Amino acid sequence: LKRINISLDTLHADRFHEIARADMFARTMDGIEASREAGLWPIKLNMVVMQGHNDDEVVDFARLAREKGYEVRFIEFMPLDGDNIWTNEQVVPSRRIQEQIEDLFPLEPVKDTRPGPATRFKFADGRPGGVGFISSVSQAFCTTCNRVRLTAEGGLRTCLFSLNETPLRDLMRSGVSDERIGSVIETAIWHKEEGHLINKPGFVKPAKNMSQIGG
Ligand code: SF4
Repeated sequence: LKRINISLDTLHADRFHEIARADMFARTMDGIEASREAGLWPIKLNMVVMQGHNDDEVVDFARLAREKGYEVRFIEFMPLDGDNIWTNEQVVPSRRIQEQIEDLFPLEPVKDTRPGPATRFKFADGRPGGVGFISSVSQAFCTTCNRVRLTAEGGLRTCLFSLNETPLRDLMRSGVSDERIGSVIETAIWHKEEGHLINKPGFVKPAKNMSQIGG
């Protein structure tokens, strides 16, 4: 393990409690520092931006990135919340977040050699750290998506919004050969979803929320 991604949606202890429903703000912040002391680098902080909940903190997160050298990823709010409170009105488009940050801290794009979900930027004045925007709703990047996920229960999910999983754990426990498991994985990936249908007719929210899927 050389680097780490940490979910952090607010820099206020009271809001943290409201969003995460756990009194763990101080522990989370200590954990970020401990990760740094342990040599894990880069440290990426993932912030899901929600209108009316934490959207007034995006500049504070950019400031933190500059002060500590962290990479902050601003993620548009997707309908994968456990509380079922998602509405399109709560999605803050990346473009708006970027404008707020650039009012204070001008940004320069970073060219990525490998495809990834985030559009990355560094600070134009040369300060360390950087920011990235994951525009999962306003500019979905499903056509270039190269992600699959394995849940803690051994289910292979080919999209965050998959309605079905391939149960690899059960398959492994049944004693089949590695070749058979490999071919099941390959078949699942060939059937990877073309993308999500958020805000389109036919959208069905998956039964599992983001924390059950594994981010
Ligand atoms: S295909 Fe699924 S996992 Fe990939 S970017 Fe689209 S919604 Fe996300």
